[in-house]
Amino acid sequence: MHAHAVHLFGVFFEHSAGYLDAVHRVKNANRSYKPVANELMITFTRWTTVEECIEVPIDFPTVVFSLTPFDDVAKFVDNNDFFIDVMGVITDISTPTMLRPRSRDADSLKRTIQIRDANNSTLNVSLWAEQASAFEADAIHKAGKSEPQIILFVGTLAKNYPGIGLALSGGSACKWYINIDVPAIVELKDKTGTNFQPINWIEAPARAAVEEVAENKTVRELLEINPHKCKKVRFQAHVTVRRICNDKCWWYGSCQRCFKVAKPYGSTYKCTSCSNIAVAVPRYRIVVIAGDDSDDAMFVLFG
Ligand SMILES: [Zn+2]
Repeated sequence: MHAHAVHLFGVFFEHSAGYLDAVHRVKNANRSYKPVANELMITFTRWTTVEECIEVPIDFPTVVFSLTPFDDVAKFVDNNDFFIDVMGVITDISTPTMLRPRSRDADSLKRTIQIRDANNSTLNVSLWAEQASAFEADAIHKAGKSEPQIILFVGTLAKNYPGIGLALSGGSACKWYINIDVPAIVELKDKTGTNFQPINWIEAPARAAVEEVAENKTVRELLEINPHKCKKVRFQAHVTVRRICNDKCWWYGSCQRCFKVAKPYGSTYKCTSCSNIAVAVPRYRIVVIAGDDSDDAMFVLFG
């Protein structure tokens, strides 16, 4: 969405409950992070205009979602093709915690909400940053003392963190709706109403340790590790950069989906790992020789 259109929509949504007609472009849907399973998407350009429709048809959908059963969530771990929508009764709300997740370079606020489905299965949804602070926890906790709070989360991704387990992650694309008047929510409310429990308030530590603590190693120890036995294990080492390997290119064309090398393929690019066909994105890959008292090694820095 063009910046101009973002402003336009900001104004529009503040003043209107209607829906809109817009001048837009239609193109193929993105290959990843799809909110809905449509093949086409609309893009809003510098030239988009918005017109308010006063007479909104009664059957005009206000929320679009496609529910994933809790039992199926595990199948979507680290799959970024689609966002996942889930629904459940809120059982626990945690206070927010500051921590540094392994996927980011900076501290981030995290709040965890536990939800339960009609089969009494539970699932954690972690809200991050703005989403964590936007969640009206006090009001929802209070309302949850007398009435079940059925929440619909849209735009989440499935994660399986070591030591934490399966959870959904709600970043900037995540939205939620509570006790709204849609058949799926009304149905779950009926099913779970007899088993009503007030929402638990979980006091999380104000500042949590890093989600995954990387073990310290010397360079010599790192060189002796069998990489096949330590896949996805993180280590850290204190090193001095001896030299930058200028004979290696500082960047490469990367796959938008998995960041591996994408090679020219006709007029576009094809990933050498996941075979995704799309425009390659330039990504830094800098090779340095660095070491400590024990040894030197080649380090590849991505970014
Ligand atoms: Zn790829």
